[in-house]
Amino acid sequence: MSLRLRLTILYSALIGGILLVFGILLYSLVNVLLVSQVDTTLYQTANDLLQGWRVGPAGELSQETLPKLNLTSFVYFQIWDNNGRLHSSSPGLGMISQPFDPVGYQLKRTVYRDALIQNFPLRVLNVPLEAGGRTIGTLQVAASMTMVDTTRHSLVQTTIIIALVAILLSAALSWFFIGQALSPLVKITESALHLSDAEDLSQRLPLRGAENDEISRLVNAFNATLGRLEKLFTSQQRFLADVSHELRTPLTVIKGNADLMRRMKHVDVESLDSIEDEADRLTRLVGDLLLEAQAESGKLPLHFAPVELDTLLLEVFKEMRILARERIQIKLPEIDQIVINGDRDRLKQVLINLIANAIKYTPQGGEVFLSLGKVGDNARLIVRDTGLGIPAEDMPHIFERFYRAEKSRSRSKIGGFGLGLPIAYWIVTHHGGQIEVDSVEGKGTTFCIYLPLPQTSEATPKD
Ligand code: ADP
Repeated sequence: MSLRLRLTILYSALIGGILLVFGILLYSLVNVLLVSQVDTTLYQTANDLLQGWRVGPAGELSQETLPKLNLTSFVYFQIWDNNGRLHSSSPGLGMISQPFDPVGYQLKRTVYRDALIQNFPLRVLNVPLEAGGRTIGTLQVAASMTMVDTTRHSLVQTTIIIALVAILLSAALSWFFIGQALSPLVKITESALHLSDAEDLSQRLPLRGAENDEISRLVNAFNATLGRLEKLFTSQQRFLADVSHELRTPLTVIKGNADLMRRMKHVDVESLDSIEDEADRLTRLVGDLLLEAQAESGKLPLHFAPVELDTLLLEVFKEMRILARERIQIKLPEIDQIVINGDRDRLKQVLINLIANAIKYTPQGGEVFLSLGKVGDNARLIVRDTGLGIPAEDMPHIFERFYRAEKSRSRSKIGGFGLGLPIAYWIVTHHGGQIEVDSVEGKGTTFCIYLPLPQTSEATPKD
């Protein structure tokens, strides 16, 4: 069932429901008013009648004055004595020889009741007549309810007709206006289908109508998703091209060196070194890819335990100094003793990624500074270099998967695969921390990592 039809039915049902409740209330109110009006007339007539009658010494009734009967109100009366004899009645009622309300007559108390006589609906007021402390008869004043019934019936009919017309009208109007409101959605669906047929992620849905209504927000969200998909798709394509290129180079070198040794018919140490270097590079690429895939699918497990960050930093510092050789000076001016809760191997990997980048992107003679200290509730690790810096246009993207700044890509010998920073980012954020970068092109880059310190009760050593 279409949304348009569902909404139309819903609105019509709503209108129908409201009219039903309203109709019931109106009917009850009119009914109460009509009946109470009849009751008042009966009461007044009974009063008038009673004032015109006197009781004699032997308990006999005699009429002194004629009642002021209102002939337009269709009110009749009967006076019955205790022996069930009709004492007197309204003129013209001679042919009716039984009480208007036989049950009310038995009750011997003032009571209003509905009765039916010769199939005519009546409202009857029963008033017991008393003299000297005993009941001598009953006065019954009755009014025809035919008019009231007709009014009630007409009211029900009119309400039903009005309700049906209102429901049909609201269904037609709802169908029209909902159709109008949904028409942009239909157009968007057509455009979206067209886009997916064209398989062109660079196209966008056109924005129509008001800037900030639901439809335009949907279009914006859809376009943003398309934008992200396009970016992802492009970066994946670029990544595939990069990876194939990166794979081809070491494989060519390995094959070339192996061929050379076969032709020379002896093992050449230089060729072996080169083969080993390229194999290492391949291993790194495969390792990074695997890690990224695990992190992406949420299957990279983190084993949390107390980690002495200072010891870890010193360890990485020593290892990376060997990597930097004489080319770059690595310095560790500031280091505090800090223990946090984390996965030691993964944190080491973050440090290695950042320091390796600093070494890679710093020309010979440059410097890399490391530091570890406490800032508020966090441990702060800083990796600062005096290298190439990151161009401003690349800054927003460096944590995206497979992203490599233009310069790094053109210098594929030194660059990696654009996976180091996304992996570092994933690890730090999954430790509840933050990673920040600040860079000036041509001057250098600073990466700051903030990792939350454990709560004091956890952190205090037992001794
Ligand atoms: P890569 O393996 O290419 O270094 P990363 O994800 O580690 O990939 O880094 C992404 C990009 O960020 C790099 O290609 C490089 O352009 C830039 N980058 C990262 N660290 C630095 C740095 N210390 N100095 C200059 N550029 C950097």
